[in-house]
Amino acid sequence: MDLLSSYIEALETAPARLYDQEQQEVHSGLVTRAGREVITALGAPDLWCVEHGAHVGRTLVEVRIYLEWMALQDPSVYRSYQTYGAGKAKLYARITDELAKDWNSPEVEKAIEELDKLSHNDDVLDHRVVDTRDSFAEGKSIRAMAKECGLLDLYRQSYSLASGVAHSEWWSLETHCMEPCRNILHRGHLIPSLTLSGGADVALASSWVSQLYALIRRSLQILRTNQDAVDQAFSWLSTDSASAESFAPGEEQAQDDMRKSED
Ligand SMILES: [Zn+2]
Repeated sequence: MDLLSSYIEALETAPARLYDQEQQEVHSGLVTRAGREVITALGAPDLWCVEHGAHVGRTLVEVRIYLEWMALQDPSVYRSYQTYGAGKAKLYARITDELAKDWNSPEVEKAIEELDKLSHNDDVLDHRVVDTRDSFAEGKSIRAMAKECGLLDLYRQSYSLASGVAHSEWWSLETHCMEPCRNILHRGHLIPSLTLSGGADVALASSWVSQLYALIRRSLQILRTNQDAVDQAFSWLSTDSASAESFAPGEEQAQDDMRKSED
């Protein structure tokens, strides 16, 4: 929470760029989404394991790849990102509308209304294009984006494994949810396991915090946020030596990744 609020403070106290707001909106939106995921997960130690926390690491890597890839594109990419999302909101409003016909409930009506609002479409003149390609980047996959911005290793090492868990690949079910049957007449078939993952993997939870910190630093660099504002917002990290030490790996990792992307 402290890291995320310092990030927001840095953005808010730095001189505002009123004429190209999309880049900062998209950056702060994505970083905040990842930050909220981490904050919530930290409050629930049961999630500190690969089985239940894969989505947290996956979000952190995904956001990192998005930001790095977008930094290499024409600045109009940030507007495209928002426009793509608005088109999706329109699509979901239409789909929910189909549902509403046989599900006459005020909640569904409210959801349609909300999605319509998020599509930022005109009530009278429908100008919102729905892009049904797989991503905001003309359908480009996240793997291709990672490759183009020098983060293929990060993608392969973190994202693909976490995605395997998220998409219920068999190896993940086998190791997390199944166990061998003890009846020797059953030829060692696998049966569902009710032994829950213990969670509470402190190293994993710490790595999320370090990754979030690296993501925040990188976002501020890409945005070229005023250095004084950044130093001021994060001054508690250098005055509080204990915190500074515990975040040091994140900082090093961030610099390391940056060097890689420079290469
Ligand atoms: Zn059996």
